Amino acid sequence: MNNRQIMSLLDKDTRNKNFEEVALGFNLSQVHIEASRCLDCKDPRCVKACPVNINIPKFIKEILDKDYEKAYQTIYEDNILPSVCGRVCPQENQCEGSCILGIKYQPVAIGALERFLGDYSLKNDCCIDEHIVDNHDKVCVVGSGPAGLSFAASIRRLGYTTHVYEALHDFGGVLRYGIPEFRLPKSVVDKEIHRLESLNIEFFKNVIVGKTLTIKQLQEEYKYKAIFIASGAGLPNSLNIKGENLNGVYYANEFLTRVNLMKAYDFPNHPTPVKVGDNVCVVGGGNVAMDAARVAKRLGSKNVFILYRRNMDALPARKEEIHHAIEEGIEFKLLLNPVEIYGENYQVNSIKAQVMRLGEKDQSGRQKPMPTDDFITIDIDSCIIAIGQSPNPIIKNHTENLITDQKGRITVKDCETSIPGVFAGGDIVTGAATVIEAMGAGKCAAQQVDDYIKNTFH
Ligand code: FAD
Ligand code: SF4
Repeated sequence: MNNRQIMSLLDKDTRNKNFEEVALGFNLSQVHIEASRCLDCKDPRCVKACPVNINIPKFIKEILDKDYEKAYQTIYEDNILPSVCGRVCPQENQCEGSCILGIKYQPVAIGALERFLGDYSLKNDCCIDEHIVDNHDKVCVVGSGPAGLSFAASIRRLGYTTHVYEALHDFGGVLRYGIPEFRLPKSVVDKEIHRLESLNIEFFKNVIVGKTLTIKQLQEEYKYKAIFIASGAGLPNSLNIKGENLNGVYYANEFLTRVNLMKAYDFPNHPTPVKVGDNVCVVGGGNVAMDAARVAKRLGSKNVFILYRRNMDALPARKEEIHHAIEEGIEFKLLLNPVEIYGENYQVNSIKAQVMRLGEKDQSGRQKPMPTDDFITIDIDSCIIAIGQSPNPIIKNHTENLITDQKGRITVKDCETSIPGVFAGGDIVTGAATVIEAMGAGKCAAQQVDDYIKNTFH
């Protein structure tokens, strides 16, 4: 059995000073060695573990036959964003986590193979001639993140006239404004979204549903037979401590949006700089915290550290992202919980944190952080808060009878909300999750919407 192939990375001391992509992908020889490791299982567990159920053994066999275009088409049937997912999916918990080879050896690098095929198709402009028979029923999508895009493609393939409304001035949701360029180049996002336009899906930007147009208007005036809400979880959670409103304190979403969407790293070519200073504290231990820390480093900060209330083993971020952050010089200050942010002349200058110890295990199975009597104060120039996101309440606040739970997530049954004909999926339903889970929700909702329209109107 060949060893699992290792993807080349940009040198750590070079990459932490620029925004170029870190992981360089497999070369053709690696692709074939890796594909040859697949056992072509009779009952492939990887397929079940993939939230959009890509036929993994089939596309791997097509790679071995050197029919890359066909292999790409096999993926594209179930996943319209293979170049994106090949890069950002936490495969270790999904397809690769279930690969039978992982029991004795290392699992097949399914994500890297998917990325290869996605990139191959973009580079070679592989075009998929999908024969769609229009049924002239109109549906719309609120939000152009992975859930909205996946829904739009699936419902359009069933013949529906499909319109996507997006609040921002560009499409892709977190793929566009959250995940940094060095993990997911925006040219890849552009090309994969552009391909959807060839399905005749229409996109409308700068439309905030709930403000520019209400759900009621979409139903009654615009006559959409069904609406799919995929507005994500873009509202940052706050620490609720003193000093959080000082200058130099950012929420990770705002910080990453300024850098990714507004291209703050390319000042003065883009007129929205973001000032971080030499010493940056990032509060939180998830993927968003790792992204924010690595971006701050690339913006030129000398000392960037993660402040986290548990220990290294409990960090919720992907192991790979933690590893890359350490390589790039990010420091970890652990078992510390922020209690106050200090400043002078409205500008942050230090953060006070309580020293924690680990207690009994909590519901998450991790040891609970317990406060001690000790505190430390650390000098900083800026602070980025990355402790999770919640759904934005705009739609809920402007839509009568739309039921949400205590956390503001839309309540659904078989993807349908409390309002007939209005469906929802992705982070707005589950809370912050993953790209491919959001895409799975979009795909599933398309089937439910099709059933609903056929049963209600035909
Ligand atoms: P979103 O991607 O949030 O898209 C929602 C869209 O709806 C946005 O474009 C928003 O502008 C729009 N919208 C909101 N309100 C309205 C409105 N009222 N009217 C019109 N449009 C509206 N997951 C991974 O799998 N791998 C990763 O590596 C990863 N890294 C991440 C890094 C960061 C910094 C963040 C924040 C998240 C990351 N995630 C990652 C999580 C993943 O991106 C999300 O789970 C996924 O994007 C959710 O998809 P969605 O379509 O539900 O929502
Ligand atoms: Fe191949 Fe692993 Fe899937 Fe089996 S589980 S088909 S070995 S990728």
